[in-house]
Amino acid sequence: MAKKHSYRFNPHTLSYERVVVTVRERLKKISFTVAFGLVLGFVFTFLAFHFIDSPKEKMMKRELASYKRDMRQLNTKMKRAEDVLKDLENRDDNIYRTIFEVNQVHTTSAHDYGRTWDSIKGFGSKEQLEFTNDRIAALEERLYEQSVSYDQVYELARTQKDRLVAMPAIMPIAKNRCKLVSGFGNRYHPVLRYSRPHTGVDLAAKTGTPIYATADGVVTEAGRGQGRSGYGVVIVINHGFGYQTLYAHLSEVRARIGQKVKRGEMIGWVGSTGLASGSHLHYEVILNGKHVNPVYYFFNDLTPAEFEEILEAASQENQCLS
Ligand SMILES: [Zn+2]
Repeated sequence: MAKKHSYRFNPHTLSYERVVVTVRERLKKISFTVAFGLVLGFVFTFLAFHFIDSPKEKMMKRELASYKRDMRQLNTKMKRAEDVLKDLENRDDNIYRTIFEVNQVHTTSAHDYGRTWDSIKGFGSKEQLEFTNDRIAALEERLYEQSVSYDQVYELARTQKDRLVAMPAIMPIAKNRCKLVSGFGNRYHPVLRYSRPHTGVDLAAKTGTPIYATADGVVTEAGRGQGRSGYGVVIVINHGFGYQTLYAHLSEVRARIGQKVKRGEMIGWVGSTGLASGSHLHYEVILNGKHVNPVYYFFNDLTPAEFEEILEAASQENQCLS
């Protein structure tokens, strides 16, 4: 192949003259081309790295976006859980604990984690993860506290219920079939003929009138010969929680020793056995070993007016029927 030559038109000589390129000029041209190529290459590579993602980068970006979305949703769900828990805590404090007259357990500062998702929205993934972690820990703590509280409330409900059924709460004879003739306190004894503490109340009623257990319990004495002089035929019921009731001068017992009885269950019949001046029931309530006024335990089946009347009758310092 023949070597190419360049020619230039010379206006002075009006002829084309051959252009002679020196080696130096040739080298200069080559190095300029190479330098330009390199610069262009760098620029393209730089642009490519910054504005065009590799498939791996695209995938990672998608993952990051999805992770952020999940994190936000997780925090929204946690907010809902916190709100539900807050409601449970409020009910616990203001309803359940109020019923049982016990102190509230939740403090207002513990109600909220405090920071919200919005407050750390623009933060990096590390901060967001830490925030979410702390939030879960706070939620767990509150859940634990709430479950302990519910255990306490459950225990209160259970024991109060047992306590309520163990407490004498009715009259031992239907109110329209008896009359309170003697109350609690010092009374003149009709047979012994002197004044002494009357440890119960006397309810005058016809022989054979049914007598009822005034609270749930277990019969511990039934019949004669229990070492109680003057009481005649008796029934004693142990109700637990320190409560006992005693029924004396019965004509006959129906309950047996060891028998479990319910409030309102018939346990025997009115009579006048032992030291008694007439047919009646001598009824006692014993709390923690001490005799207490049974009239205060007649609250379940009396109207306020009837209760007033009985209190008035019980306060008369009269002669008891024994
Ligand atoms: Zn009596």
